[in-house]
Amino acid sequence: MSKTVPLKAIADASFREFVKTLQKHLPEPQKIESVKKNLTSVQIQTLKKIGELIETDERENGALQAEEISQKDPKWILRVRIRNILRQAMEEGLIHLGFVQRYGARYGAIPDPTSNWKYIKLPNGFWACWTCGTDVMGAEIRRPVHFREMPGAGSGEVRTETVPYCPQCEEKPSEHGPPIVEGLADGYYRDVEEARVLARNL
Ligand SMILES: [Zn+2]
Repeated sequence: MSKTVPLKAIADASFREFVKTLQKHLPEPQKIESVKKNLTSVQIQTLKKIGELIETDERENGALQAEEISQKDPKWILRVRIRNILRQAMEEGLIHLGFVQRYGARYGAIPDPTSNWKYIKLPNGFWACWTCGTDVMGAEIRRPVHFREMPGAGSGEVRTETVPYCPQCEEKPSEHGPPIVEGLADGYYRDVEEARVLARNL
C-alpha cells in the first residue's frame, strides 16, 4: 500500500513556483572555487551552515538510504533542516553551484533533475511524487538486447531493470520494455568484464 505525503510537507507554493523556473533553465553547475570571490557574506554563511549540517548527518547517520524512520526521528529532523537551508541557498542565488544542485537533489530540496523533475527524495531516503506526494514505486521491466549492426535482430539476451513510477499519476510501465540497442562488440566487452570479476572472486 503506498502512502501519500501532504504536499505542504514537501514544499510550499512559492518554492514550487521557484522550481518551475529551474525546470525551464537549470544553470550550468559551477565549482565553489571559481565563484568564491563573488559570494556575499550572507551566501558564505549559508554555505558554511550547509557544510556543517551535512557533515553532521554523514558522521552520525551514514549515507542517506531508504529506511523506515518516523518524522520525529532526529535523522528526519536534521535532514529537513538541511533540505530547508539548501532551499534558502537556492533562493539566495546559489543555485548555480554544482554543490547546491547535487546536495539539493540528494536531500530532497528539489525534485531530481535526472528523473525529469518528477520525483523528490524524502528525509527517510524513499522517493515521493513531486506532483501528488505519493510514494514512488519500482516496476520491473524486461528489455531485449538488439544488435546495432543487424537492425531488429535480437541476441536472445534480456535484461531486467527497475524503473520508478507514481502509482497515482502514471501508468505502471509495461513489463516489456523497449529494446536496448548495442553493438555486437559491446556484449563481448561486458563478458570480458564479467570474466575479470569472476577471476577476482574465485
Ligand atoms: Zn503522483
